[in-house]
Amino acid sequence: MIQTDIINAIKANNPIIIHRHVNPDPDALGSQVGLAEAIRAGFPDKQVYQVGSDTGNLSWLAQEQTISDDVYKDALVIVTDTADTPRISDTRFNQGKMLIKIDHHPNDDAYGDLTWVDNDASSASELIYDLIAASDGTLKLSDQAARMLYAGIVGDTGRFLFNNTTPHTLQVAAELIKKDFDPTAINNQMNTVTLAQARLQGYVIDHLKISPAGAASVTVPRTAIEDLKLADDQVSAVVGTPGRLDIVVAWAEFIEQAEGGYRVHLRSKGPIINTLAKAHNGGGHPLASGAKAANFDEVIQIETQLDQLVKDYSTSGK
Ligand code: AMP
Repeated sequence: MIQTDIINAIKANNPIIIHRHVNPDPDALGSQVGLAEAIRAGFPDKQVYQVGSDTGNLSWLAQEQTISDDVYKDALVIVTDTADTPRISDTRFNQGKMLIKIDHHPNDDAYGDLTWVDNDASSASELIYDLIAASDGTLKLSDQAARMLYAGIVGDTGRFLFNNTTPHTLQVAAELIKKDFDPTAINNQMNTVTLAQARLQGYVIDHLKISPAGAASVTVPRTAIEDLKLADDQVSAVVGTPGRLDIVVAWAEFIEQAEGGYRVHLRSKGPIINTLAKAHNGGGHPLASGAKAANFDEVIQIETQLDQLVKDYSTSGK
């Protein structure tokens, strides 16, 4: 069983360095640091590190650690929640002596000496819980590990709203909140926005274009983000906003980047949109994906293609 192989690799190796994806969300941090904490609790003598870019506006949840290159020499490297190697935060991930991938995105890039990918899991954090449960007490669900994994599951299920929430997800969440941490505080923190983020939500609603079929799109220009003095990682607070509208079936948000081009957030209540994301330098889940648009022509292209996907979906009778 792959879980046993991963647990044996963890038992056999020291140090262990855990990576996650760039632009971390709660599941990236939850799975990364949740695993780190479970290893620390089970093996107090091992050196375990969580690395990557600054955790930014999620610093209340976890912080990265800085390590020198020589730590990688004999290290086991584990990457969580990251579908492909270009998205791994900290490019030194391939400098260890062994590499493991643990993820729940479509396995388009099966990197690693061991690869455990389960598309049916709500989140990578749910998989880390399953790994701990399969470890016969070798890995330990400390309070801190449970807090991280709970935050990851809440993040990737939209507080148990999205259709990736399974009976198993809720069973895992039930086990996690038996531990000593404050789940309400985490839910509140993840539900909280700054006034500037709320104003950006207002901008998104004000500028939303909705096609007759229910494909919505909005372009957020650099000036709107700069006028509100928002950091890039604060913009993610508006990704779900159009989905609250009854007439919206799928939506795209185009966030103009400081270096040019647009970061694209694609979301859907039914039509599969990760094929569209893949066609535009992106990827992700069937109903939640990200992509890139090099210029405004590509923005228009994606808008048109999204509208077509929504039309096809409604004529297919779903
Ligand atoms: P986002 O819209 O950035 O919140 O991303 C939604 C989902 O799509 C996440 O699961 C990401 O991992 C994935 N995703 C976002 N951007 C990309 C990209 N450029 N390439 C591959 N997957 C992506």
